[in-house]
Amino acid sequence: MTLTEIREALALLGTAPTRSLGQNFLHDQNLARWTVSLLDIQPGDHVVEIGPGLGALTCFLAEFPNRLTLLEKDSRLVPHLQTRFGSTRTRVVHGDALDFDLRDLWGEGPVKIIGNLPYYISTPLIAKFTSALSPASRLVLTLQLELAQRLGAASGTGDYGAMTLCCGRRWDIRCERKLPASVFYPRPKVDSAVVTMERKLRGRVRPLDDRVFERMVRRGFSARRKQLRNLLPEFKNDWPVVAAALGFPETARAEQLTPSQWEALAFTACPAGAQNPNERFDVVDEADRVLRPEFRDVIHVNNLWHRAVHIWLRNARGELFLQRRSIWKDRNPSVWDSSAAGHVDAGENYGEAARRELREELGVEPPELRGGIKLEPTETTGWEFIEVFEGVHEGPFDPAPLEVETGAFFSMEKIRHWLAASPGDFSPVFREILARSAGAA
Ligand code: SAM
Repeated sequence: MTLTEIREALALLGTAPTRSLGQNFLHDQNLARWTVSLLDIQPGDHVVEIGPGLGALTCFLAEFPNRLTLLEKDSRLVPHLQTRFGSTRTRVVHGDALDFDLRDLWGEGPVKIIGNLPYYISTPLIAKFTSALSPASRLVLTLQLELAQRLGAASGTGDYGAMTLCCGRRWDIRCERKLPASVFYPRPKVDSAVVTMERKLRGRVRPLDDRVFERMVRRGFSARRKQLRNLLPEFKNDWPVVAAALGFPETARAEQLTPSQWEALAFTACPAGAQNPNERFDVVDEADRVLRPEFRDVIHVNNLWHRAVHIWLRNARGELFLQRRSIWKDRNPSVWDSSAAGHVDAGENYGEAARRELREELGVEPPELRGGIKLEPTETTGWEFIEVFEGVHEGPFDPAPLEVETGAFFSMEKIRHWLAASPGDFSPVFREILARSAGAA
């Protein structure tokens, strides 16, 4: 939109920009088109724009035939957006983007996020739309220059800090270019910059408990001038050995460590559990009778029949808690699955395994569980007899970080639509259980 168009639109609406809503409207068309091009919109993508305002970016987004969700807080602008862009493929949501329910976006195609963000809430908006529950694969955001520089900072610089490291662990961040205040109306007091964030693929994220990493980084940067060894007392006398092994000086301060040295440090403090090679399950016959215990690898390599459980927890509203498997799982990484699932250990029965899995994967005391559907061993089940247990639980859960990426309650209607649109988002066993439960209903 040009400056004249913005002024005319505001006059027509009988309104003026509101400072408390961070309203600075972009009036450089070339920049708007270029910003949209950074989103790299592909067929099937679902684009979400945060704070569309009068539509400076939206008019270029609308040139694509993709689905578009516009999240705008200002009720005065919503009718204007509705009239200009509302259609069967574009929905205008009136409300605070911080309250937007991310679960709505699952099953709606690959999600990409764009926004000239209101500066007063940029940090919580970034945290929300890059969280584990967000389906976004790419974000293009216009931010206050200072924040953009912190996000994209290199180690050893003054801008490098906890935010750089915590966002950078899961996202590739690029500061694309600086925008002068003069391209906005009204002119903000500070310059801005456009940042792209691309979600890292599994091979590029070191297996690590993100919470441990984040806590350690925040402590390390809590006093930038202090040497790290004084801020991370857990290493005690080992510090010289750790520093030498990870390749930084004993006297290092937080900003001197590269992102991979920070990850290695967190890993040293809390090693990500490798799979226990001595884990054993019972091998069973065609009638599910126990034959003998056997090592996990032997069972899997030889396709021997064994046992597993899936647990479905519903809340009082009948919604089912789904977990998203961790990106580091050797089988079916990153897909959505039953509330909890796992093998029956040697000597254990199905019910005991179900209760153990709830404690281990979701960190809760098991409610009363009811056994139900039983699946026969097939290639889909990984040659497992699977018993499905159901129970009622309202959460909250404390999912095991290296097992579970995230989790949430979803209505059965949502799950069925999502599965129809995007079956690959779910584990094959979950799909099978759902099909069987629909047949049984
Ligand atoms: N995208 C437009 C542009 O580039 O001209 C407007 C950008 S302006 C910097 C920020 C926009 O975010 C405004 O339209 C404002 O009303 C909206 N906004 C402010 N707070 C919001 C919130 N919590 N949720 C959604 N939109 C919000």
